This record gives sequence, C-alpha cells and structure tokens, in this order.
Amino acid sequence: MFDEITIQNIKQAKESLVYRNQAFVSGEYVNSISGKTFTCVSSATGEVLTQIAECDEDDVNHAVAVARKAFENGCWRDLPPAERKTILAKFADLMEANRNELGLLETLDVGKPITEAINTDVTIAADAIRWSAEAIDKLNDEVVPTGSNAVGTITHEPLGVVAAIVPWNYPLFMAAWKIGPILAAGNSMILKPAEQTSLTAIRIAELANEAGIPKGVFNVLPGFGETVGQALGRHSDVDGIAFTGSTVVGKLFLKYSAESNMKRVSVECGGKSPIIIMPDSDLDAAAETAVSGLFYNQGESCDALSRTLIHESVKDEVLDKILKITRAIKVGDPLDPSTEFGAIIDQQQFEQVMNYIEIAKQEGAKLILGGNQLTAAPGVLMLEPTLFDQVDNRMRVAQEEIFGPVGTIITFKDVDEAIAIANDSKYGLVSSVWTSSLKTAYKFRNGIRTGSVWINCHDAGDMTVPFGGFGESGIGRDRSLHSLHKYCELKTTWINLD
Ligand code: NAD
Repeated sequence: MFDEITIQNIKQAKESLVYRNQAFVSGEYVNSISGKTFTCVSSATGEVLTQIAECDEDDVNHAVAVARKAFENGCWRDLPPAERKTILAKFADLMEANRNELGLLETLDVGKPITEAINTDVTIAADAIRWSAEAIDKLNDEVVPTGSNAVGTITHEPLGVVAAIVPWNYPLFMAAWKIGPILAAGNSMILKPAEQTSLTAIRIAELANEAGIPKGVFNVLPGFGETVGQALGRHSDVDGIAFTGSTVVGKLFLKYSAESNMKRVSVECGGKSPIIIMPDSDLDAAAETAVSGLFYNQGESCDALSRTLIHESVKDEVLDKILKITRAIKVGDPLDPSTEFGAIIDQQQFEQVMNYIEIAKQEGAKLILGGNQLTAAPGVLMLEPTLFDQVDNRMRVAQEEIFGPVGTIITFKDVDEAIAIANDSKYGLVSSVWTSSLKTAYKFRNGIRTGSVWINCHDAGDMTVPFGGFGESGIGRDRSLHSLHKYCELKTTWINLD
C-alpha cells in the first residue's frame, strides 16, 4: 500500500480503500439475513465510511450451525497439528503483509493515532496468531502415574464452537488474542466485533480464508451487543464464550450462560489501575510512564494507569514532571503520523468522560490540567488530557472506570498505605510499581491484588505471559499457554489392564 507512513501516503491510501462491510460465514462474505445494515462512522474523520451488515439472531443461528458442522466434520480440529500451525502462521504473515491497510482501517474506526495502529496494534495481533500457531505442536497431554494394571491419561480436546465478543478500543489485537488460542486449540469460532469498530474484523476474515483456514471454521458477525452478542451468549449450541469488554456486560455473559447451557465463559473486563511511585525510584522514568500509561490510546485502555499514587515526600516534584510531559503530548488528527493522542470513539463515550469530569469537580477534586473539549473536524470528538489532584481514593472518580483521558493524583505516606489504596477497588487488572529496592518491589508484588504487577515498567511482556485481572476485572486470562486451556476440555481416560 505504501512504504513510509507520511500524511500524503495515508491520505492517498484512504482514497483507494475498499471497505469490506458484510458478515463472513462459511468462507464467504454475505449480507445479513434480514438485509439490514448500520452506518459505520469514522471516529477519526467524522465521515460515514460504509454501511455494515447488521446481523441478528437468525444470522447467529445460521453461523452457529455452520461452525458446528465444520467442527463435527473435523476439517480443522483433525488436521495434523503441524498443518494447523502452518495455516495459522500464514494468517499472521498475511496480517503483516497488509499491515498498512489494517492500521489505516483501525485508525479510521477508533480514532487512534495512525503510527500506533500500524506499528503497534497490527504487530501485536500478528504476534498473537503466530505465537498460538507455534504452540499447537508443543502442547503435550499427560500420562499419570498408575500401577502396572492401568494406564491413566489426561488429554485436551477443543470445546467445539466458541464465540469471541470484543470491544472497540483495540479491535484487531483484542480479537487476535482470542482467535489465536481458540483456533490453535482446534475449535470453530464466530467473532463479533464491537458495533463501533467492525472494519478490521471483517477484513481479516478473507485473510484467514486465504491462509487456508477451512470454510466455516472462522466466521464474523457484525452487529449490536443486545442482538448478536446476546444471541451468541444464550445459544445452546455455543460451547464457549471469550468476551472482552465492560464489567457490566461481562456479568451479562455469565448470566446468559447460567440461563442457557452452562457454556464455558471467560470475561476480560474493566480496570482502575494504579501506578505507585516511591521516592527511591527513577522519578523521570516514573513520571514518563505515569503519563504514557494513562493517556495512551486517549485513555481508552483497560489497563490505563488512571490512579497515580505518589509518595508524599516527592509529590510536588513528580507532579511538576507529569504536568510538563502531559503538556507536550501531541494531540491532533489521528491520520497525521506525528499525532500521539487522537479522537474519542463516539458521542456516548465522550459524554461519559465529560460527566466524570463534572463529578470529580463536585466531589472536591482539583482540576489541574485539561477538562475541555478541543476543536476538531465536524463529527470528530477531541478532549484535552485531563488531570485531577487532591483525589481521595473513595471518590467515584477514583473508583469507577472512566475509560477516557482523565487521571487522578493520590498521595500516600508508606508502602502499606499504598498497597491498601491500590487494593481498595473492585477491579484488579494491573499495577505499575516504581522503586529501586528489590525488597520494596517484592512487598508490593506480594501485597497488590492485580493480574499483572509491573515493576519499573508498564504494559511490558508479550504472548509468553498471561493478561487479565483479579476481582471484577474478569475471569480467565488472555495470552500464554494458559489461554489455550480456556478453549479446551480436559478428558480423563483410565484403561484397566487387568
Ligand atoms: P462493552 O462491554 O460495551 O462491549 C463489548 C462487547 O460486548 C461489544 O462487542 C458489544 O457489542 C458487546 N455487548 C454490549 N452489550 C451487550 C449485551 N447486552 N449482550 C451481549 N453483548 C453485548 O465494552 P466496550 O465499551 O466495547 O469496551 C470498553 C470496555 O472493555 C472497558 O470496560 C475496558 O476496560 C474493557 N476492556 C478490557 C480489556 C481486558 O483485557 N481486560 C481489554 C480491552 C477493553
């Protein structure tokens, strides 16, 4: 598409984009059964990009039957592991070969900066597929110790038909974190993208096809949560749900399962993650991370560092640094390669964030930066990176997920108090701890109840380590070999040799 990420190349590429806008079932693009469509508006430019097939329960019934048939006929699960590995690895290669197009579609849909979408989001997605592919022929089953009169084995089997329901903030790689292990484990699947961001999910379906994933194994149903999402959650022939999104909707999937067939459900949900800055840490690096970890992706990250806990002895110094770094963030047109902070996804999210800014003021937090809408192209919603000081951790603004560019500054006097504040949350997704003392780092590691504790870093690691949370941040983990186990049943076989 283009070699260099320049504004001219991006604008030119945008003009020649073809928007895939149908569902993908049984290896081909199809309209929704009802023929209905919904409008896809770009968060980056405010334009209407295309009309997307609006699936509903009938499409779900059809796609589940197709996926079931593909599962039962063994076209995928019974392939030799090495063959499935080759096909999935090719899928990853094709994502990379189409990196610029996928990144551009992602930026247009989400409003995120183009350089990040092309260089980071697509890379993470391709890595997730490739890593899962590589795992396929390295997962051994188990033979348990028995007497000589028996053989006992524990084997993994795919669940069957798995539905992945994903959010809008990182549409491509959130999907890839599910697709990789679901397909690697031998399942058939249906992907439901968020209604705000369907474009990359639909586009990669034909890449999956091109890679050689058999028809019916990978299906995509665009549409709304209450219709497609709910119908998948309640379908009695769906064996597993892999959900990423809000805690409220995650709980609905647990309910759908309980009220239908007790399908396996994993839910990756929200967060209110702390960064904890001790006086003995590299304060410059800690301040850099406090800012990038909060405002990356316009603050629309599940693991956004939305609570900044600073030791009282260095609070003024660190806050000065944070303010200086935040003021230097390049906010602007998501399609400009130099932009670091783009647009908010949609009006509803924008209003939610503005509402929390008002709540914070009413609660007595002190607005020290931002808080205002920025002028942008018509239909594009831009917000200043916003910071509140003098926040008490019991305030709503420190307890509830805002999912936008709003940070809270909280002080503490010692390690125990910092741990207590960090844990005073219904969420437990991630934390980032800054200290030069190994002893202190371990005290935090042992005391903080979050799925990841990053010491002197944030959002570090790769597919080798799990990602997911404690408490209401979810059940289950994405990434690592543990994620493959979510999409498998365990079978015990005991052979009597007497
Ligand atoms: P959301 O819960 O509103 O939507 C997520 C998905 O669920 C979408 O596909 C949506 O269509 C569907 N959905 C919505 N209502 C539904 C219903 N009633 N029944 C069935 N499906 C329904 O979340 P969002 O606004 O798209 O994403 C933001 C949330 O995702 C934040 O809370 C964020 O923290 C979370 N998130 C978590 C992780 C993680 O790994 N823990 C990663 C990214 C985002």
